[in-house]
Amino acid sequence: MMVWRVGIGYDIHQLVPNRKLVLGGVTIPFNRGLLGHSDGDVVCHAIMDALLGAAGLPDIGYYFPDQDPQYRGIRSLILLDKVSCLIQDEGWKISNVDTTLVGESPRVAPFVQQMKSFLSQTMNIPVTSIGIKATTNEQLDSIGRGEAICCLAVALLQRD
Ligand code: MG
Repeated sequence: MMVWRVGIGYDIHQLVPNRKLVLGGVTIPFNRGLLGHSDGDVVCHAIMDALLGAAGLPDIGYYFPDQDPQYRGIRSLILLDKVSCLIQDEGWKISNVDTTLVGESPRVAPFVQQMKSFLSQTMNIPVTSIGIKATTNEQLDSIGRGEAICCLAVALLQRD
């Protein structure tokens, strides 16, 4: 009998000067970037928590503690690769992943295909199994003031 499990993930990071902006593994030209111990890629972080949650595993803070020097400045795609392997080792197949990015700027639409391509290669699933939607916070709250970017994610896993 086929078993299905769904998981959710959420992440938010501050936008600050003198940092590269990395979303879904893509470096996007902008005057600020996301603050974080790793590259601050909220898309990868939200997806990882969705995958781990669906598999009933602990969250990314458990696997990649932000006090651990080995993860300092690390590309989050590398962490996503590790999580994908962990999920598959548990016998799960990733059915699909969907995300919503929330931020006022920059516009990410021109980079969505590249993000999907990186995420697809990293999780070893088809590009058509990945959703990336982008919206603004309508100038409301910290995200609306351009102080942060957040990402929501859901993941569906299946196992025979
Ligand atoms: Mg994070």
